[in-house]
Parts: sequence; structure tokens; C-alpha cells
Amino acid sequence: MNLKEKIRVIQDFPEKGISFKDITPLLQDKNAFKKSIDCMKKWSENLQADIVVGPEARGFIFATALAYALNVGFVPVRKPGKLPGQVISAEYSLEYGKNILEIHKDAIQPGQKVVIVDDLLATGGTLLTTARLIERLGGQVVGIFFLIELSELKGRETLKEYNVKSLITY
Ligand code: 5GP
Repeated sequence: MNLKEKIRVIQDFPEKGISFKDITPLLQDKNAFKKSIDCMKKWSENLQADIVVGPEARGFIFATALAYALNVGFVPVRKPGKLPGQVISAEYSLEYGKNILEIHKDAIQPGQKVVIVDDLLATGGTLLTTARLIERLGGQVVGIFFLIELSELKGRETLKEYNVKSLITY
């Protein structure tokens, strides 16, 4: 099965000029969704991950499924003000404006091996910020997995110090 066929490209969403990669047809298809997680599980072999981290919101979908498959825990990274406990935050720049991400202070123990999963790699800003948060807590980022990579935006360069893998490339 070709996973790319399960991605629906929607022009001018959420703004004019953006060609949005809609993952919902893939999620809806039990075989495609299972294949995606099975591939990520294969990439995780030998990494001995202790925990899987996923950024809000579409990252939660793949990260929780992978955590279940690997029999490890899941940690959410969220937009500001969403996590109830004590957090650490980091800010990063977007094309227009800024974003902030947060993680619970006690979510990662020093020395833990962490895999991060998100739906899509664009500039890499979201994932670099997520990786830095994990490192500030003493975690070791052993893999960063994506369903989709937009290669033109060169996110791989931003994440060049990490073990980056993606299933579908545009
Ligand atoms: P980056 O930080 O790499 O520039 O952007 C990646 C983030 O933007 C991901 O968390 C992803 O969910 C979101 N994103 C940006 N463009 C798209 C898109 O076309 N489709 C989907 N599904 N997510 C996108």
C-alpha cells in the first residue's frame, strides 16, 4: 500500500497559498494507520526508547499509538497554559510571529532515551524546540519520526544533529 495516496492535499488551507497535507484519510484507513505505526516501531528497534513525546495536536495521535506499540509511556508537549503542573517553556519563531511550547518539569527523568513523533516536518522549528525542552530536562533524544516531510523547507538541516526519519516525502 502506498501511504502517500492516503494524504489529501487541500489548496489554500488554512490560508491562501498553503497546500495543506490532510492526514485524516490515512487515519481513517485501518491498514494505512497500522502500517505507519508499524514502520515507526521498526525504526525504534535498537533505540531502547524509554518514552515517546508528541507535540500538540496531531503529534499526539502518532506518538500515543507508537508508545503503546513499544510498551513505553507518552509525554505531551503543549501550547502555553494547557498543562496543569509545573512546566518549562521555550519560544521559537514562525514565519509570522512566535510560538511557545511547554512540557511538564517532571515528565522526563535525566538519562531517559526519548523518541519524538509528529505528523509533519516543515521548517523543523516545532521539533527542534521540543528536542531542546527534553534535553533541558536531561533526556536524550534518540529518534525523531514524522509521517510526512516537506523537503523543500529543509527541516532536516534544522534537525541535522538528530536521527530523523519520515515515511512520506513531498
Ligand atoms: P514546522 O515547525 O516544522 O515548521 O511545522 C510543523 C508543524 O506544523 C507540525 O506540528 C504540523 O502539525 C504543522 N503543519 C504545518 N503544515 C502542515 C500541513 O500541511 N499538514 C499538517 N497535517 N500539518 C502541518
